[in-house]
Amino acid sequence: MTSPISTKLHGDVLIVTSNNPPVNALGHAVREGLVSAIEQADADEKVKAVVIICQGQTFFAGADITEFGKPMQMPMLPMVVDRIEQCTKPVVAAIHGTAFGGGLEVALASHYRVAVPTAKLGVPEVKLGLLPGAGGTQRLPRVAGVRRALEMAATGNPVGAKEAHDIGLVDRLIEGDLEQHAVAFAEEVRDVRPIPKTSERDDKLAEARANPAVFDEFREANARKFRGFDAPEYNIRAIEAAVAKPYAQGVQDERRLFMELMSGTQARAQQYFFFAERKAAKIEGLPEDTGTRDIKRVGVIGAGTMGGGISMNFLSAGIPVTIVEMAQEALDRGTGVMRKNYEASAAKGRMTADQVAQAMGLLRPTLELDALADCDLIIEAVFENMDVKKDIFGKLDRIAKPGAILASNTSYLNIDEIAATTSRPQDVVGLHFFSPANIMKLLEVVRGAKTAPDVLVTAMQLAKKIRKVAVVAGVCHGFIGNRMLMPRQLQANRLLLEGATPEQIDRIHVEFGMPMGPFQMADLAGVDIGWHRDPNRIENIRDKLCALGRWGQKKGAGFYDYDEKRRPTPSPVVAEVIEAFRSKEGVEKREIDDQEIIERTLYTMVNEGAKILEEGMAQRASDIDVVWVYGYGWPVYRGGPMFWADTEGLARIVEGLKRQQPRLGGDFSLSDLLVRKAEAGEKFTR
Ligand code: NAD
Repeated sequence: MTSPISTKLHGDVLIVTSNNPPVNALGHAVREGLVSAIEQADADEKVKAVVIICQGQTFFAGADITEFGKPMQMPMLPMVVDRIEQCTKPVVAAIHGTAFGGGLEVALASHYRVAVPTAKLGVPEVKLGLLPGAGGTQRLPRVAGVRRALEMAATGNPVGAKEAHDIGLVDRLIEGDLEQHAVAFAEEVRDVRPIPKTSERDDKLAEARANPAVFDEFREANARKFRGFDAPEYNIRAIEAAVAKPYAQGVQDERRLFMELMSGTQARAQQYFFFAERKAAKIEGLPEDTGTRDIKRVGVIGAGTMGGGISMNFLSAGIPVTIVEMAQEALDRGTGVMRKNYEASAAKGRMTADQVAQAMGLLRPTLELDALADCDLIIEAVFENMDVKKDIFGKLDRIAKPGAILASNTSYLNIDEIAATTSRPQDVVGLHFFSPANIMKLLEVVRGAKTAPDVLVTAMQLAKKIRKVAVVAGVCHGFIGNRMLMPRQLQANRLLLEGATPEQIDRIHVEFGMPMGPFQMADLAGVDIGWHRDPNRIENIRDKLCALGRWGQKKGAGFYDYDEKRRPTPSPVVAEVIEAFRSKEGVEKREIDDQEIIERTLYTMVNEGAKILEEGMAQRASDIDVVWVYGYGWPVYRGGPMFWADTEGLARIVEGLKRQQPRLGGDFSLSDLLVRKAEAGEKFTR
């Protein structure tokens, strides 16, 4: 087998080229090839300098993910980069595309870095629960400075080549042919002695050495973002070691911290999730040659909360949208909100005024349903009411052109029933966006009994185009995400009656890593969502709160009281309402411990997830996890509910559910699949 690394002599510069498509991942053969090339450079008297460059779309984009979880073959990357740095001839890394992770570590160990202006440099390891473990945490602050190194390593966000040049991470920006200019650069630095070895530099560490408070300042400034995650803190500690200790000791600290992360659950969870997200795009059981339908114009019905956000996704991707409302006022309000959202993005520098104009210019607002006749995809986002939806789909059947995809954004309703009102159920699909629809990454693609394969494939591809992560769900009440929300909400409500408080239940969920608990979520979304709107019909705590006008944050009161800055405090009124219901229903108040809350609100979700799997409503356990991480903010360091269940141990989940069963209510039943797997010692996700 030929090596992906080849060398050629140009004058007295040895050009070391990697050709390992698609992304020049640093697999075993590449690592081995790099070491031999450097050895060749050292041994060959004719060689006075070295250029490391990659063919194809990018510089080394990182580790070879197919080697994950397998025993590593020598030479390991830390040895490779050290060997590069020890080369007795100056080494220039010539960067295009993405120099990520191990790729940037190769570049940092090189003596010089040149890059094309479009290149990106970063150490995204933190996103997989790790740190750059081949000297990256020690070399990066020495080249880019401590602050920038902290940002790059602890957030994982890359910097562009121009910025990299400004901070000293890139020595020269190259316009024109990269190889040719890199060779010219190598010729310029050929005789510079001593050769600048990154590990021996400490000029950029001086500032942080004089002011070690930068680390705590950085921790504090990012406390919210890093909450619950191990890896950002480990990255910070490794860079702290770079500042506090000599290089040789710093790399030892880096290694130890790396190994600790590597053996922890969070890194496993985050790596699992990386693959889960990619797997979600695959639909089982479709013919290989399934085609797609062309989507040139999208129609959206309803310019409310969802319709506006949904439209923005397409406009931002350059796809024209026709949006239909019932009344001019609602139409103006809806399009006004869209414009305001775009302008807010522009104010934050995320888009230009031109881009705002361009996006809004692609929008055609109208009151005529007939205007949807030229749309290739029509998404209905009107009130959550079956009769209204049926009426609309009946009309669409008459209006839409043949082959147009007819989609509903319903949260709970039966897509098959909606499809049955048309003469073309094969063209009907659920596209369940999450609120705010222009921001949330998740899209549940609901596969009806008759949905055509090419409709599904088109939906999945379109999701990618509008930068969503799509998951296929079957037709059931609430699909994957909202269906699992129901047992959680039911138990949370029962727990209130039995003696828990909204604060206690929410605290457990936040400590677990959720962005908010069930009652904070209700207050944010609106306690009145789905309310029957009859203030005299009071059947539960929520009915009473709605009747009292406690509709949540928007009213300054819900399960909590809010001040003018929307800061919550526990509400004595709510405590009274709960108390009144408790005595009315004859429930005895008792102390409820945290573990019970976990078992009743989280274990029941896992149980529902297992049912979703056994009914075939999700294709795979990892899809459920993708829904919860991207749709509801489940902490990715716990992988998702099904991965988390595996780490808890399914036997323990079943045991907890059995212990709680008398309190879970009559509609609760254990999932057979969960019990079977627990008994067999199996897992959902591995
Ligand atoms: P909304 O009340 O904010 O908006 C609905 C809009 O549809 C209103 O502006 C209304 O005037 C318009 N409308 C009603 N009938 C119409 C008709 N025949 N023709 C044209 N326009 C019509 O509601 P929403 O929150 O945007 O929800 C819309 C759908 O999305 C519902 O099915 C809901 O379950 C679903 N959904 C909502 C959320 C959420 O968090 N709000 C999340 C996911 C899905």
